[in-house]
Amino acid sequence: MEAKQYVAEIQKYLEEKDPNQSEFLQAVEEFLPTIVPFLEEHPEYVENNILGIITEPERMIQFRVPWQDDAGKWQVNRGYRVQFNSAIGPYKGGLRFHPSVNLSILKFLGFEQIFKNSLTGLPIGGGKGGSDFDPKGKSDAEIMRFCQSFMTELSKHIGPNLDVPAGDIGVGGREIGYLFGQYKRLREYDAGVLTGKPVNFNGSLGRTEATGYGAVYFVKHLLQDKGDSFEGKKVLVSGSGNVAIYAIEKVHQLGGTAITCSDSNGYIYDKAGIDLALLKELKEVRRARLTEYVKERPEAEYYEGSVWDLEKAADIALPCATQNEIDEVKAQRLAANGVKIVAEGANMPSTMAAVKVYHEKGIYYGPGKAANAGGVAVSALEMSQNSQRLSWTKEEVDQRLDEIMLNIYETCRDTAEKYAEKDNFAAGANIAGFEKVAKAMLAQGLV
Ligand code: GLU
Repeated sequence: MEAKQYVAEIQKYLEEKDPNQSEFLQAVEEFLPTIVPFLEEHPEYVENNILGIITEPERMIQFRVPWQDDAGKWQVNRGYRVQFNSAIGPYKGGLRFHPSVNLSILKFLGFEQIFKNSLTGLPIGGGKGGSDFDPKGKSDAEIMRFCQSFMTELSKHIGPNLDVPAGDIGVGGREIGYLFGQYKRLREYDAGVLTGKPVNFNGSLGRTEATGYGAVYFVKHLLQDKGDSFEGKKVLVSGSGNVAIYAIEKVHQLGGTAITCSDSNGYIYDKAGIDLALLKELKEVRRARLTEYVKERPEAEYYEGSVWDLEKAADIALPCATQNEIDEVKAQRLAANGVKIVAEGANMPSTMAAVKVYHEKGIYYGPGKAANAGGVAVSALEMSQNSQRLSWTKEEVDQRLDEIMLNIYETCRDTAEKYAEKDNFAAGANIAGFEKVAKAMLAQGLV
């Protein structure tokens, strides 16, 4: 069968099988057509129905998470872990706590994670998990009780050589600490079972910064390749979690100016550059909303709505909030504002129509599975340190991160040139990420 026809049939099959999983179908639809040229050169993958197998998670676990709130009332949420692919290493990927979490979201994230993890060059498979629990407005004690209940069930399904969860939206050092404490009580002290741990108990220096720094390093290498740099560049950033915060920090260190950040209600436009010390204080210490930012920095402006509605000239956009935050209209606006590079700190923040606009307008596009791979890459470095019972210096971790991001950039660039067209980094990322995993699957007897 022709590769193109085969891909179309798989897509149709998945649409019929799970018609309600729109995010998962979107991630697959963005992926499949780009690997056709690779499949044409490697018919053995078509003959062995590799796509039918790779789009089906190895295992999905769903469980009940009962917990008691501060008023003494019993609440219940759904917990999940999608163990998508273990061809090149133990399942690896974050846990997301957000009311929108469902199987479609976790399957899209897990699917992306397979190829992202492959691109890092490190031995990690793909997985994702989480809960529809909403951490917003919850007390520390409620978060702790929820995490303990969640881990009581999850602990039966994970382990340092089996599945190694980490953070994602709504799960940071505090949550990983509570999850780790509960795992330890139920099983044993095994540092390598979770990553993103606080640095005083086996976390890696530089893990908190890694996703944001890594996204900026990806752009730095792209700019260098084109004979340019961050010096004097205006950068639009969305989000105000650890990805956004450390992307802003690295942009400023490299001589650019990040002029925006956002939360789920609105955004800050600060033309002098985001005050990072203030942002960190609000988000990392006070866990406050961004409306507080303008109270302490009146020269900045706060608007309700999406940061991508802002009409100001800029050079680079780093979406670091969540999936589908940039649609076609917003992508057109970015182009009109003069943006030349979009690199994704978040997972799938651009709709397919937005990506089409980037291509039409000649905007360089660094897809999430390449541009935000620095986070999970440093998670894999954390696993190495845990195995060695050693901790590396911040400088050593940061240098390795920069090298990994350079390698990812060059792999995407070179693979795009070989199979697709020059500078189509999305096609390059998909093909390069897929090749390694598919080859391993075939060698292992397609299991
Ligand atoms: N949640 C992050 C991601 O989307 C990190 C996963 C990890 O460190 O395992 O890649």
